[in-house]
Amino acid sequence: MPNPHSKAPANHEGPYYVDTDCIDCCGCREIAPRHFGFDEDTGLSYVMRQPETAEEKEIVNEAMNHCPTESIGNDGEEEG
Ligand code: SF4
Repeated sequence: MPNPHSKAPANHEGPYYVDTDCIDCCGCREIAPRHFGFDEDTGLSYVMRQPETAEEKEIVNEAMNHCPTESIGNDGEEEG
């Protein structure tokens, strides 16, 4: 499960986040390159742009579902 108490420091503020269990597999950046970036300082991926539209949320949710370490979380409201 994503850990909301151990978020990657570079996450852009908002409901979605990457936690520090990220192993930098690149998966989220391949699925949603407009939303996830790589932080060289920590070696962790992070949310660089929060999704806004339904389409963007769908892509970010897909990345979340494919994360091998379940490191991508959503603190916000459940989407439909
Ligand atoms: S998919 Fe998960 S483990 Fe892979 S880079 Fe993204 S957050 Fe890290």
